Amino acid sequence: MNDNSLRLVWVYPDLLSTYGDQGNALVVERRAQQRGIAVERVDVRSDQPVPAGADIYLIGGGEDRPQRLAAERLRRDGGLNRAAANGAIIFSVCAGYQILGHEFINDLNEREAGLGLLDVISTRGEKERCVGDVLGDIDERLGLPPLTGFENHQGITHLGPGARPFARTRFGNGNGTGDGTEGAWNDTVFGTYMHGPVLARNPQIADLLIRLAMDAPSLPALDDRWYEALREERIAAATQPA
Ligand code: GLN
Repeated sequence: MNDNSLRLVWVYPDLLSTYGDQGNALVVERRAQQRGIAVERVDVRSDQPVPAGADIYLIGGGEDRPQRLAAERLRRDGGLNRAAANGAIIFSVCAGYQILGHEFINDLNEREAGLGLLDVISTRGEKERCVGDVLGDIDERLGLPPLTGFENHQGITHLGPGARPFARTRFGNGNGTGDGTEGAWNDTVFGTYMHGPVLARNPQIADLLIRLAMDAPSLPALDDRWYEALREERIAAATQPA
């Protein structure tokens, strides 16, 4: 799309929206509007079809059972896969991230097929649940400041050759594989374990999604002092002894 408008879809708020993930939709919407971009936001419940013609899709985290239901419905619906084939930008958090991969372990302890939009596979971690603050450095190709966020997951995610780590952790678990990676991305599809909500804590990621969707090399700067103060506080908290 090249006119000055953006279609934003928040996928399955009734099943996948834990730890403030709704904030991600609010932040994308607000930051686009602050640049004079008209936003049409559609919240698509799990009993509704996912429209394939939007520009940005957000999908959040969830408990194990809603995660299985969401995966079943998204596979059956096919709309998110069609959107990805159309080149839409998709940003996913935690359970949503696992669903975008090839498979994950569901609440019945069975392998559940994902959508295959990211070359990752999630298994159930044998160690303690990954819970707490995370600090990382985002893939330098994306040109973004350090990532801060909060994670809460049992699943761990292994990247295949078609997915790049979204970030490298300085603190916290991220993908939970012990290799220091956090999240995954290919050119249009992104996954992270960061709640936070992640776009409220890292608004430059919201701007990245908007730029990619609008095919815009840059966006006008905004007053981000509040966000930067929060980032500095989280970096200090993560890097200083308690
Ligand atoms: N149920 C998944 C896990 O524990 C995702 C949890 C979440 O989205 N916070 O790995």
